[in-house]
Amino acid sequence: MTRPAHSTPSLAHALIAGRCPRCRHGPIFASTWRMNPTCPECRLRFDREHGYFTGAMYVSYALGIPLIALFTFLAWLVRRDWPIGQLVLAAWLAFLPLVPLVFRYSRILWIYFDRAIDPEPPEKP
Ligand SMILES: [Zn+2]
Repeated sequence: MTRPAHSTPSLAHALIAGRCPRCRHGPIFASTWRMNPTCPECRLRFDREHGYFTGAMYVSYALGIPLIALFTFLAWLVRRDWPIGQLVLAAWLAFLPLVPLVFRYSRILWIYFDRAIDPEPPEKP
């Protein structure tokens, strides 16, 4: 399917909307937890190789730990009398609803990062 060039979303808009890094139209995720194996629009394969999303775990860590640290700090502002273990537990509980969002954006950011530094698909054996 061809689209007029002016209808292509910006890189930032496509990233935030979770769209394919190549065509910027096809959704990367089919549902909250399930990814499309390929872009429904341009057929770009999102999972390039076995273990591809191991790198997304680092992105997930980079997104999650600052949020948990922030939530721990906010809990400390509210309950300074609690021990640190209880504050961290409260922060983890506050973080739980954000897990699907962090999961999605860790993979989306990983795909965009990987495609930026290595845009060509791997060679077929
Ligand atoms: Zn695409």
